[in-house]
Amino acid sequence: MVNLKEMTGTCVHCGQTKIVKAMSQEEADHTAAVECNCPGGDMERRKKQVKEQLDELIGYLASDNGWEPAKEETFNAVREIADQIAEEKITSCAMRLDDTNLKISRNKGKITIERSKTIKQGGSIEK
Ligand SMILES: [Zn+2]
Repeated sequence: MVNLKEMTGTCVHCGQTKIVKAMSQEEADHTAAVECNCPGGDMERRKKQVKEQLDELIGYLASDNGWEPAKEETFNAVREIADQIAEEKITSCAMRLDDTNLKISRNKGKITIERSKTIKQGGSIEK
């Protein structure tokens, strides 16, 4: 059981403070930002949802969904790109991950994350 302390977190986007339960000041500030009602808070919530989706597709929950989980460093690199998409710095990104495709895109504020795999069977028969 982890002991969370009541701390004052400061939203990094607008400076509003909030009493939150956290283990460190950094975490308190992050929680305050995620729960903040400013536009930066909206973005933090989007990033959190993006991270949850990545957990399902390439992270620790991937194997539950039939996907090969990515290595931690790969996961972190993809997350970095996904964050930039949530921050509206990148519009979309498509990549090959082993034998699957991963596409992260943003259209009118909506972020779509999809992993897909094409299965082919069959071949040619010589005359
Ligand atoms: Zn804020």
